[in-house]
Amino acid sequence: MVYNMSLTFLGTSSGGGPSESRSCSSLVLDIHAHGKLWMVDCAEGTLRQFAFLPKDNRLKVVDVTKVFITHMHFDHCMGLITLLANLLRGPPHAPTVPRSKPPLVELYGPAGLRTFVRSILTMTSTSLTERYAVHELLSPTDTPTSCTLSDLHEGETPGRDIVCDEDGLWRGFLDAGHVQVDAAPIFHRAPCLGYIFRSYPTRSYPTRSYPTHPSPSPSPERKIVILGDTSDPSACLPLASDATLLVHEATDTHIPSSIDRSLKGDKKSPASIEEKTKAKGHSTAGMAGAFARRVGARGLVVNHLSAKFPTPRYPGGKQQHVITEIERQASEAWGMGQARAAYDFAKIWIPVPAPAPSHPSHPSHPQQNPQAQQNPHPHPPQNPRGHGRDGDDPAKRKYDLLFEHEYGLGDGLEPEGRGEGEGSHGRNRSARY
Ligand SMILES: [Zn+2]
Ligand SMILES: [Zn+2]
Repeated sequence: MVYNMSLTFLGTSSGGGPSESRSCSSLVLDIHAHGKLWMVDCAEGTLRQFAFLPKDNRLKVVDVTKVFITHMHFDHCMGLITLLANLLRGPPHAPTVPRSKPPLVELYGPAGLRTFVRSILTMTSTSLTERYAVHELLSPTDTPTSCTLSDLHEGETPGRDIVCDEDGLWRGFLDAGHVQVDAAPIFHRAPCLGYIFRSYPTRSYPTRSYPTHPSPSPSPERKIVILGDTSDPSACLPLASDATLLVHEATDTHIPSSIDRSLKGDKKSPASIEEKTKAKGHSTAGMAGAFARRVGARGLVVNHLSAKFPTPRYPGGKQQHVITEIERQASEAWGMGQARAAYDFAKIWIPVPAPAPSHPSHPSHPQQNPQAQQNPHPHPPQNPRGHGRDGDDPAKRKYDLLFEHEYGLGDGLEPEGRGEGEGSHGRNRSARY
């Protein structure tokens, strides 16, 4: 059974935001066929972003069961308390469910996440009737946060302390049947993680115990790599190779003055922008593309854009040319396809890729792939730019990203009464910008 996974961006701004067109980092993975949602990062305003989703995007915040936090910078985690309060708070004076009951929401993240959540819930006198748990991904030098009964918040269930293996990686730290999750440390100003979500066509393999040095194991059907902020994610190379989709930050990028004079590209060189960006622990679009090339990613989305790169308000304008230039630089460094820049409420479909052409046992044409024929999702994408368009030429091994809409600010935010081209930046615009 193949499920049409999707990834929705609720927030795509760097810490310079939120801005008018971008909220800070928050992504939703619709990765299961049974309606449970997983999130990566949860910035301030995430709950409100759910409310502004386009009406045909049926993601509901009540379906969130797991949140993976990449790092503890404010633009990635300040929405957690609001989210937990919304999901876990019952009627006034209702008793908290017993600790023996499984938590409704589980959080995963670096050392400190447990204390962060616990202390803010306590300081804000937030009572919960349902339960949550925080599982921390620890390096050998991290000190585990106590989970003794007296230290727990009233709504907290003890979480796991998950120590990395001797390679510094968290291989298979979560096994949810047909989806397994790895994590790796990536270089940033603060301890930061990249998450790798591997999906398999059946629940029967690989086994629950994932060895430190696994013997040859079945290849995942899809591999979704979502990185936190980073200037060097090399440590996740062993886990991220042949990613179906790579989401990589591109906080800053040199934009020539011929495209937008206000960004003062004539006063800075591309090298100086890259140097400054790296010094802050971040990446440029070119760096994101170069890493996508290293891991052989089939799809690339650049995310976590500076507030000076707003989502274009209408096609053909200066803002659109800036975003197109960011995508061009990422694509050029990647060399395997057309990179896309994320925008708030963008939804990407993640179909099963066509098999690699070098594999003799697989058909080269995607239409001959029986897995690609199955499509049980109630709202499958009907996008001519989609999977397999270039399947006639195996050498291209192309995997187009399936963006459901172009530039969407959501129903509630879409201005009305504009002329042709200016007011149509929202949903269902099929033209490539
Ligand atoms: Zn950030
Ligand atoms: Zn950061």
